[in-house]
Amino acid sequence: MTGEAVRPSEVVEPEGAPQELVVAGLSVHYGGVRAVSSVSFTVGAGQCVGIIGANGAGKTSTLKALMGLVPRTVDTIRFGDRDLTKVKARNIVRHGIGYVPEGRHVFPGLTVEKNLLLGAYVRPWKGQTLETMQEVFELFPMLGEMRHRLAGALSGGQQQMLAVGRALMSKPRLILLDEPSMGLSPKLIEDILGVLQRLSAAGHGLLLVEQNAKLTFEATKTCLVMENGEVAMTGTSADLSRDPRVRQIYLGL
Ligand code: ATP
Repeated sequence: MTGEAVRPSEVVEPEGAPQELVVAGLSVHYGGVRAVSSVSFTVGAGQCVGIIGANGAGKTSTLKALMGLVPRTVDTIRFGDRDLTKVKARNIVRHGIGYVPEGRHVFPGLTVEKNLLLGAYVRPWKGQTLETMQEVFELFPMLGEMRHRLAGALSGGQQQMLAVGRALMSKPRLILLDEPSMGLSPKLIEDILGVLQRLSAAGHGLLLVEQNAKLTFEATKTCLVMENGEVAMTGTSADLSRDPRVRQIYLGL
């Protein structure tokens, strides 16, 4: 799973220059339930930002709202110089934003290779797609070895890597990741951290949603803490990891 050390230059690189994501006044309601309440934040171009919070804090809803997958109200979603507030869910990926959903959602009855090709649906150029798939195999040698195996036959950790690889196939400039460590062993969580660090070093912007605060503080430079659908704290990951309240509630120290 870990694979041999990979230099950043060998990692799938984002297509085009990194872009800044600016979100302002984002809210999500499910019927009468308020899940996210006027959240605002920025992910600087090529930066790695974390969102931590307990169960039900509104983290997943925030990512889904950015992808246009749940009903939302929002003042601003700007990515680089593009206004994404009215862009439909199926087109968000075309604007350079990749999404690794909670629970992976790989297609179990399709091979690893076919799952990856589905991630490239916005890039219909076969030559480039195969080149990107090769780069994904360099990042995750295990996926290359298992390319003809059904995704449903992979372990949870392998499926997580496949979900990340699938998102990379669209050559995103920013990747939204929803709890990539969920259900994984400490060893596999270390592997995920390594992958995030490599992607970040290669220039990918990352927005990482996690319940695992330790992983998030190690993987990111800045973080938001969500509580009850609101941003309760923001700061550098180093400062937050030293905050007594954060240490008690989110690090269990
Ligand atoms: P977790 O870490 O457990 O995934 P989260 O921080 O990602 O939690 P959300 O999944 O965004 O939180 O949920 C925020 C709130 O919205 C919760 O109260 C949840 O019960 C509610 N919620 C989420 N999805 C729906 C839905 N489809 N219908 C109704 N309520 C929902």
